[in-house]
Amino acid sequence: RGSRAPPHVAVMPSPGMGHLIPLSEVAKLFVQRHGFTATFMVFSDFSDHAQTAFLDSLPSGFSYVVLPPLPLDDVPPDAHIETRLSIMVKRSVPHVRDVLRSLRRTTRLAAYVIDLFGGETLPVAKELGVPHYLLFTTSFMVLSLLLHLPALDQATSCEYRDLPEPVMLPGCVPLRGEDLLHPMQDRTDDAYGSVLNITRRIREVDGILVNSFVDLEPAAYAALKEAEPEVGRPNVHAIGPVIHRGSRGGGKGKECLRWLDEQPPGSVLFVSFGSGGTLSTEQIQELAWGLEASGRRFLWVVRCPSDRVANGAFFRLQGPDDPLRYLPEGFLERTRGAGLVVPLWAPQVEVLAHAATGGFLTHCGWNSLLESFVHGVPMIAWPLYAEQRMNAVMMVDSLGVALRPKTAADGSGLVRRDEVAEVAREMMEGEAGRKAREKVGELKQAAAQAVAAEDGSSCNALAKVAQYWKDNASTGDV
Ligand code: UDP
Repeated sequence: RGSRAPPHVAVMPSPGMGHLIPLSEVAKLFVQRHGFTATFMVFSDFSDHAQTAFLDSLPSGFSYVVLPPLPLDDVPPDAHIETRLSIMVKRSVPHVRDVLRSLRRTTRLAAYVIDLFGGETLPVAKELGVPHYLLFTTSFMVLSLLLHLPALDQATSCEYRDLPEPVMLPGCVPLRGEDLLHPMQDRTDDAYGSVLNITRRIREVDGILVNSFVDLEPAAYAALKEAEPEVGRPNVHAIGPVIHRGSRGGGKGKECLRWLDEQPPGSVLFVSFGSGGTLSTEQIQELAWGLEASGRRFLWVVRCPSDRVANGAFFRLQGPDDPLRYLPEGFLERTRGAGLVVPLWAPQVEVLAHAATGGFLTHCGWNSLLESFVHGVPMIAWPLYAEQRMNAVMMVDSLGVALRPKTAADGSGLVRRDEVAEVAREMMEGEAGRKAREKVGELKQAAAQAVAAEDGSSCNALAKVAQYWKDNASTGDV
């Protein structure tokens, strides 16, 4: 291959569709707008039907390599998902080296892109002189926290939730210790060590592509930009919102869109906890009673309770159990017409884009939030794990696009039915709901502007990265 061959980007999503989808959406921009070709390296243990079908459906310019199987017999079956992920990525290093070497020979390899769990493979890219970038799929505020964490760790001797003062990150809303990342809540746990390790890796990349946009977090973005000249501070690029637009609805999905077609505009509260979120049996019941009592229309994606399935729904959505049997008796009959319950999965992007959808009760996963902004849907923030509490604080305190239900004062950690009913009514018809709707309408415009082909800030930032990669692409045949 000579220098006229298209520039090439190698992408390594860590195992799981939740990592593959955002990386492929970003890679599509490089391929379709900037003339790149791309190779995905995927894990054979996950080359199940969904992943293969997804990869096969990628447009031309994409190819993929399935990495050889990795022995995991020595990993205990009940090991944390994060532990499994990190072991797999570590063991993939020699294979990643082979693939990158071969791509350097056969293509104009311009960059290597990973997600947050792929850090262990970075030394290979460094060794081969391939520019290496991270796709960061949450906010600048979370990125800022991760970059500050080593210092915060040094300066703090107690658990973060016992800190008397909120944590102040430059350009961000004050954060109470208990709202910081879920794995930061117990500093003696392995998971906290993994987060610290990730913070070290983040500093090794040549650049970070962030799926956020400048107008969403202007001050946090500005503070990170300002710190770039410091040692160990990679350049950051705001390239979002990049959301998945393809249809993922099967038969069931079509059914709920048809149901929405029959509802008045802006009348339905969509209730969903992301790809893996689950509630306890008691919380499912309280939510159900509350939705019913609110008298508002709803579309609810229901999963089996967390106290009945191990490891949530992260890797295996479909269990043998029927989620509907955990609803209060007679609930489905009583709410028929006003509510629709969908087991396991709904075509979320299409639901949020539908005119009948007027509110979104969400677990505050970053993709869900971006999708909500893009479609101008105000939210009820119901965070569960990961960085979701930080996202919720940002939605409520900083952006004003979401309402937050209160958990009961009885120490149960539950949101009780009266509170659910009240917040649902307020969202759909109250003054606070109206304000959140107005605010999210402004964000919708800002989001569209950021990705506009004509001079959008995110579009320009991506073009700059693409140009830099092209200018520095290897010539192949080395
Ligand atoms: N999603 C969907 N249908 C569902 C649940 C989730 O299409 O029933 C999609 C949703 O549109 C989003 C992704 O799955 O793109 C979830 O990502 P997010 O970052 O919100 O949360 P996570 O699943 O990572 O916790």
